[in-house]
Amino acid sequence: MDQTQKVLVVGAGMAGSEAAFFLASRGVKVVLAECKTKKLNPAQKMTDFGELVCTNSLKSMNPDSGHGLLKYDMEKLGSLVLKIGKETAVPAGDALAVDREQFAAKITEVLRNHENIEVIDEEITEPLKAMKELECSFVILATGPLTTEGLEKWMTDDLGQEDFYFYDAIAPVVDAEGLDYTKLYYKDRHKPVPEDEGVEADYLNAPMNKEQYEAFIAELVKAEKVPSKDFEEYKFFESCLPVDIMAERGVDTARFSCMKPIGLEMPNGDIPYACVQLRKENLVGSAFNLVGFQTRLKYPEQKRVFRMIPGLENASFLHLGSVHRNSFLNSKKLLDWDFSSKKHPQIHFAGQITGVEGYTESAMMGLYVGLQVLRKLKGETSVKFPIETATGALVNYVMTAHRPAPSNINFGLLPAVELTKPERRDRKNRKKVKKAKASARAREALDNFLKDVF
Ligand SMILES: Cc1cc2nc3c(=O)[nH]c(=O)nc-3n(C[C@H](O)[C@H](O)[C@H](O)COP(=O)(O)OP(=O)(O)OC[C@H]3O[C@@H](n4cnc5c(N)ncnc54)[C@H](O)[C@@H]3O)c2cc1C
Repeated sequence: MDQTQKVLVVGAGMAGSEAAFFLASRGVKVVLAECKTKKLNPAQKMTDFGELVCTNSLKSMNPDSGHGLLKYDMEKLGSLVLKIGKETAVPAGDALAVDREQFAAKITEVLRNHENIEVIDEEITEPLKAMKELECSFVILATGPLTTEGLEKWMTDDLGQEDFYFYDAIAPVVDAEGLDYTKLYYKDRHKPVPEDEGVEADYLNAPMNKEQYEAFIAELVKAEKVPSKDFEEYKFFESCLPVDIMAERGVDTARFSCMKPIGLEMPNGDIPYACVQLRKENLVGSAFNLVGFQTRLKYPEQKRVFRMIPGLENASFLHLGSVHRNSFLNSKKLLDWDFSSKKHPQIHFAGQITGVEGYTESAMMGLYVGLQVLRKLKGETSVKFPIETATGALVNYVMTAHRPAPSNINFGLLPAVELTKPERRDRKNRKKVKKAKASARAREALDNFLKDVF
């Protein structure tokens, strides 16, 4: 490796801290630029690096959970966030919760005192110019969901306004397992039902009669919503309105929008009064997205109200809906699989801005990009993590999602596992067995993959 090459990392949050530490620990000279010491953004409260702006939880440590699997990958790649997280842990059951001040203080101490890291307390607004001035070969932009306006301007001007998003309206995702298929039917709007055996339409539909619909809309209006923060003055796209706002606009609004029944005849030929559409989240159909159900409802309220939908009474939610300020890219269009810009291959993106959601997901994406840049510095090609691993599944989601919508790690992103007949019949333990099998497969796939990488 050419020891004279330097890397500029912009942002010392989850992803930037990981990327900088990963590279510096492997002998790469890093310039780490962070602007919070000059001016905090509205979600930040401290000038230290690695700030957890909301909850202090880095989520589950259970090895058979999505977040547990992601932590397995992080551990194997020498994660600083995980190491310091464990050192500053506070009791939280099977989750890793931390003392946020201690956590951030220790991350800052490690990064500021690292012999291979030079910290500059500056805002970067022109990455190519900064890279040249600081004599770096690569840049990693890890500036997060609240990237500064100056840099956002460069991104929209240079990469394209239409591929840079400022708000994130997420619809909930349910596990296919918990659905009551006796109340649901497959049909794509205005299309005949496929007749070939084993071929299903893409959409699963939950029909409602008038009484069910009106009760549902009334609860949507009544339900508790997450209040927006000062800096989140929402300007919604009319075509992407949260379902609860539609409900507030009038009892029939949703019935002419995301709950429109036209073209969705039931198997008996009748048209329902209203209909909720569920779209497969992945090819195997192990998870479904509630189409058009982006929402501001508080999490427990979402579970309560959305379980009123026929067929979803016992639904298990893999991901709940939300609406918040969030800068992220249309990565599928703008980036290569190693998260380098197609237009400027020296520039890489890491963290939430790539289209993942959450502290640990963002941290892992910092490690992922750190690894890709390290390989380039060594003259090696970039690598694709197996889709069976948590990291591979998350990257695969970002690079193939039907519509860019940031996601956290969940089992719905991993390819389905085969169950034996007795395992399938054991309804009580089926889900647990499935997760355990997918987790064991993910760990094995990562171990085998890393043998070839390092
Ligand atoms: C209000 C809010 C609440 C959230 N709550 C949660 C939660 O409860 N749980 C959870 O898992 N996730 C939560 N998230 C998401 C969480 O912030 C991110 O997932 C995670 O911190 C993103 O990591 P990151 O490294 O991509 O960005 P960040 O951790 O935000 O780090 C980005 C860093 O870049 C710096 N920066 C920005 N622009 C520039 C620039 N031009 N030049 C130099 N430095 C710059 C910023 O100051 C910041 O330190 C929340 C996000 C927001 C905005």
